Amino acid sequence: MAAVPERDYDLVVVGASFAGAACAIAAAQYGLRVCVLERKRDPGLKLHTTGIIVKEAAERTWLNRVPAHLVRKVDRVRLYAPNLRNVALQVPDYYFLTTDTPNLMRWLADEMRDQGVDLRLAQPFTQASRETSTQRGRWHLPGIGRTHWLVGADGAKSRVAQRFGMGGVRHFLYGMEYEFAGLELREPEALHCFVNKALAPGYIGWATQNPTGVQFGLAFRHRASRKGTPDIDALRALVGHRIGIPDDLTPSAIRAGLIPCGGPVAPLARPGVILTGDAAGIVSPVTAGGIHSAWQHGWTVGEAVARHLRDGGPSPERIAERAAPRYRIKRALRWAFDHAQMDWPFDLMLGSAPMRWAAERVYFHRSSGGTA
Ligand SMILES: Cc1cc2nc3c(=O)[nH]c(=O)nc-3n(C[C@H](O)[C@H](O)[C@H](O)COP(=O)(O)OP(=O)(O)OC[C@H]3O[C@@H](n4cnc5c(N)ncnc54)[C@H](O)[C@@H]3O)c2cc1C
Repeated sequence: MAAVPERDYDLVVVGASFAGAACAIAAAQYGLRVCVLERKRDPGLKLHTTGIIVKEAAERTWLNRVPAHLVRKVDRVRLYAPNLRNVALQVPDYYFLTTDTPNLMRWLADEMRDQGVDLRLAQPFTQASRETSTQRGRWHLPGIGRTHWLVGADGAKSRVAQRFGMGGVRHFLYGMEYEFAGLELREPEALHCFVNKALAPGYIGWATQNPTGVQFGLAFRHRASRKGTPDIDALRALVGHRIGIPDDLTPSAIRAGLIPCGGPVAPLARPGVILTGDAAGIVSPVTAGGIHSAWQHGWTVGEAVARHLRDGGPSPERIAERAAPRYRIKRALRWAFDHAQMDWPFDLMLGSAPMRWAAERVYFHRSSGGTA
C-alpha cells in the first residue's frame, strides 16, 4: 500500500474512542482540519468497556443520534447483597442504554468521517516533536504531518502523557467481562449489581442485557499487592443460575481493562498538548462510569481549540484544566470504600430507606445532576 503523504492539520487526536470522537467531531463542526490516529485496525475490536451510556449522555450529547438497533433500554438496577438478598431500584424516567458496543464504535468512526475527520486506523501514535524551538511551533508527527494542537485521548495508559511527561493515571480498578452472544437474562430490564467484598473488593460485579446478548463482569481495586485477575468464574458460580446464565455456556468474547479511579491527572495540559477522557483520569471514582465524562470533556477540548484558532478565544489548555471534574466527594467515597468496605451492612440493611437513598444517588445521579 502506498504511504499517505504528510498533511497540515489544525488538530491531531490520538484515540478513536469516546473522548477522541467527541473532540474530533466538535472541532470538525467548526471547520478545523482534524486527524484522528487509532492504533486498532477496527475500532470495534479489543474493547475494554461494558458500554453502558447514562441517560444524560444518551439525551444531551451527540450520542443521542446512535441508531436504535445499537442500544437497549435498562430502566432499573437490581442490587444484590453478598447474601444474595436483592432489591430493585428505579427512578421515574431514568434509564441506562446498554449497547452493541463493537458496532457503536464503528458507528462513531463513520460519524467522524461524515464530519470530514481524517480517521487513520492501524496508526499508533509514537512520537511528535516541535517544528521550531518556540512553545508555539507546530508539532511534526513523522508520516502523518503537522498540527497546531495534539490531544491525547488514548486511554488510561496514555502514550501521549508519557511522551510529553504529563500526569499519569496512578489509581485503577481492574475490570473483566464475559460476553454471551444470543443469551437472554431472566430479568433483562435490570442492570444486576453484586456487592461482595471477597470477590470485588473496592467495586462490584454486574450483569446486563445488551442488544445482542449478555455481559457479565467483575472489577476490583487494582493494587500492586493484589495479584491475578478478577475471579469472574467464582461470581458466575454464585449468581449465574439466579439470573439466567447456564453453567456450561462458553463466553463468546472477553473484555478487560483498567479503569482510572483517582480523579484527574496533573498536569493535564502543556502548551499545545492536552489530555482528555481516561488519559486525563476523567472517570467517576465511585461508579467507574467514564463514557459521559469522556464525551463531555473531549467535546469541550475540541470546541476550545476551534474557538482559539478561529476567533482567538481563550487558551484551550486552561479550558481543559478547568473543565476536568475534580470528583472531590466521589474521591472521598472511594477512599472510604477502599479502606472500610464491609459486607454486613448490605446483608442487613439492603432495601432500607437509608440504603435506598444512598444507592439512588450513586446509580441515578439524583443529587449531583451528572458527573460531579
Ligand atoms: C471493563 C470496563 C467496563 C466499563 N464499563 C463502563 C460503562 O458501562 N459505562 C461507562 O460509562 N464507562 C465504563 N467504563 C469506563 C469507560 O469505558 C471509559 O472511561 C471510556 O471508554 C473512556 O473513553 P476514552 O475515549 O477516554 O478512552 P478509551 O475508551 O480507553 O479509548 C482509548 C483509545 O485510544 C486508542 N489508543 C491507545 N493508545 C494509542 C496510541 N498510542 N495510538 C493510537 N491510538 C491509541 C485505543 O485503541 C482506544 O481506541 C468501563 C471500563 C472498563 C475497563
